[in-house]
Amino acid sequence: MKLYEASIKELKELYKRGEASPGQVVDELLQRIDRLNPELNAFITVDRDKVYDQTRQAEGMLGKRDAPPLCGIPIAVKDIFTTSGMRTTCASKILEGFVPPYDATVIRKLKEAGAVIVGKTNMDEFAMGSSTETSYFGPTRNPWAFDAVPGGSSGGSASAVAADMAFGALGTDTGGSIRQPAALCGIAGLKPTYGRVSRYGMIAFASSLDQGGTMTRTVYDSALLLETIAGFDPLDSTSADMPVEPFTQMLAHPKGVRIGVPGEYFVEGMDKEVQASIEKARDTMKGLGARIVDISLPHTKYAVAVYYILASSEASSNLARYDGVKYGYRSASGADLIGMYMDTRAKGFGREVKRRIMLGTFALSAGYYSEFYGKAQRARRLIKQDFDDAFGQCDVILAPTSPTPAFRLGSRLDDPLQMYLSDIFTIPLNLAGLPGISIPCGFTKEGLPIGMQLIGRRFDEKTVLSVANMYEQATPWHERTPAI
Ligand code: GLN
Repeated sequence: MKLYEASIKELKELYKRGEASPGQVVDELLQRIDRLNPELNAFITVDRDKVYDQTRQAEGMLGKRDAPPLCGIPIAVKDIFTTSGMRTTCASKILEGFVPPYDATVIRKLKEAGAVIVGKTNMDEFAMGSSTETSYFGPTRNPWAFDAVPGGSSGGSASAVAADMAFGALGTDTGGSIRQPAALCGIAGLKPTYGRVSRYGMIAFASSLDQGGTMTRTVYDSALLLETIAGFDPLDSTSADMPVEPFTQMLAHPKGVRIGVPGEYFVEGMDKEVQASIEKARDTMKGLGARIVDISLPHTKYAVAVYYILASSEASSNLARYDGVKYGYRSASGADLIGMYMDTRAKGFGREVKRRIMLGTFALSAGYYSEFYGKAQRARRLIKQDFDDAFGQCDVILAPTSPTPAFRLGSRLDDPLQMYLSDIFTIPLNLAGLPGISIPCGFTKEGLPIGMQLIGRRFDEKTVLSVANMYEQATPWHERTPAI
């Protein structure tokens, strides 16, 4: 086995036994990035000096009794998290030249845990998209098929982990941006409960939905990274004051677990191979002793519409701060101050971001507010209520992650509605604030990964992780890697 193929758990073992050193691992990894990244475009920034600095620090700590839990483990982070002294772009021209003076809380926690930050990964501009094609830095490719998208918006993180260019990564999930790319790239992607992970230093898209989470090769590694980044943060007013459980120690087989399967998630137009894989996964779970329960989430059909009203409204307000004065890019051609604002925003934002700002501004405008925003809020409550009712009958919900496997680059770019429908199964959780994980559950005949989702009650990541782990241990999907 090559070092870069190891899981985080395995790499920790190799370090413990003295069979590998962080320096060796980082050398191998950077070589791999040099070879693969020009084509995959998973990273926007790799700062080798900083990587080596952190590696040396890790080497100094490794083996000591108080060595931190991720000592010398190379982790990639989505370029939406602020990194002190390292440019942070959110994949937008408008943040050109922006070097944050502080670390996001999750970055601080990763560093304190001894991780080596390998680089900042590509994404859809301001996390708006499902394919990583709206990035100002060009699209990321899927390591399983270079002419296919990796999903989005955390497509760079997914591609980097699947292509063995990082041992794990952080992403963010507002409507599916961790789980959908994880599914399309054949890795595990965990969106924690809203409030579980601090949003401080995570550039805001839609503040009532945004949540940071983990992208890894195994469920155990997701649990380990979650333990590291979760927890109350006084710097984030929506952060939850809940104890962080030792998730890695709570992965034992969940005996007699009840798994709900929502009829509404098996829709017309869903890819046949995806459907067959999910049904097979359900039977596997049954074989492992789970009780399968049919459930109903009747308001699912409104989720995409509700999400695009709410997320765009919040985005139009959050993105008002990019005016050419405080951060990044400033156009030189405006005639006066207002002209400068307008020209900066016209040139600094890409098409999809402008589409969202216009949609959101319209939805919030006087006279339309209660018809759009107010109504969407009320529908959001109903969607949340559906889940509350369903969790009376089951402990975890099994669903597809994405209705299709990875699609061809360019195939949905000119059809925003088609693109928005990519998130039909992931969005409802964000609206309800629930935790969910996507893990691999098969491959298409063409060799593209298929993902399934496990959804839990609020703050019940431990059940989600233990059911995911039970399935992973019984199936071979997570062991497959792309031949690159
Ligand atoms: N694809 C969805 C969107 O475009 C979700 C994005 C996300 O989760 N950040 O808004």
